[in-house]
Amino acid sequence: MLSRRALLGSLAPLPFLSVLPARAAAPLPAVATISILADLVRQTGGDAVALTALVPPDGDAHTYEPRPSDLTTLHGAALLVENGLGLEGWMDRLRGASGFAGVRVEAAAQVTPRHFTEDGRITIDPHAWQDPRNAIRYVQAIADGLTRAAPEQATRWHARAADYAAEIAATDRWIAARIATVPPAKRKIVTSHDAFGYYGDRYGIALHFVEGLSTDDEPSAKDMARLIDDIRAQGIRAVFIENMTDPRLIRAVAHDAHVIVGPVVYSDALSPPGGPADTYLKMLRHNTTAFVVAMQRND
Ligand SMILES: [Zn+2]
Repeated sequence: MLSRRALLGSLAPLPFLSVLPARAAAPLPAVATISILADLVRQTGGDAVALTALVPPDGDAHTYEPRPSDLTTLHGAALLVENGLGLEGWMDRLRGASGFAGVRVEAAAQVTPRHFTEDGRITIDPHAWQDPRNAIRYVQAIADGLTRAAPEQATRWHARAADYAAEIAATDRWIAARIATVPPAKRKIVTSHDAFGYYGDRYGIALHFVEGLSTDDEPSAKDMARLIDDIRAQGIRAVFIENMTDPRLIRAVAHDAHVIVGPVVYSDALSPPGGPADTYLKMLRHNTTAFVVAMQRND
């Protein structure tokens, strides 16, 4: 065992260190719950952040089951970015068990949530990122969180956030222009679960879906029959499978309603790297192109 004197001696500054070039600070260890948030953090933090997403690409945040390794990842993180609005029901327990002691950001904290009152109960729609104007609020919250975790880089975080927010705003204008090519009466979409409500509100699109706000809502035979009647009555020509949901329900709907199954769209998770929606902005563009082509064929 080292004596106290030897230990102190070993900690004394070494004279030659002062002539070494200044080393770049190690990347800030950060965790985001879902791949969409991870991309927003990556765009805002750049290579000054070492990022882990808990729910993988194509994964389902509603039904995610944390792995033992998530505890270690969280324990060592300086920043944690969650969506909030009830999306990550599994997060409070995981965070508590991990002993996470870094900065916690609830990305959707400044968003005006969509909500419904059902049987006297208020249900909040967590999918706020599908409106790009909300994503800009997310990015501001992330830049503030990065600043709390590493204040010496505040200028960098806010400059990157402003650049990225401008890109998001440009994408929002692009989407609005694409949707404007579809006559309002044709703006109707059918998806597996109710994940595109903010998108629909933003661009004036009516939404129909098999499941409710969460993928673990089990639709009844009556719900399915009502949706099929709706599709026929509304003259809807295509239904969409989401990347992170079981495709069987929507295939059954397409079969019974005699409509086609459109391309896969991305709602709660990005595609794996190299896929058609491996960043948030690519996801918005991919989904919009798929929706616009299908909506043009509606009655
Ligand atoms: Zn969802």
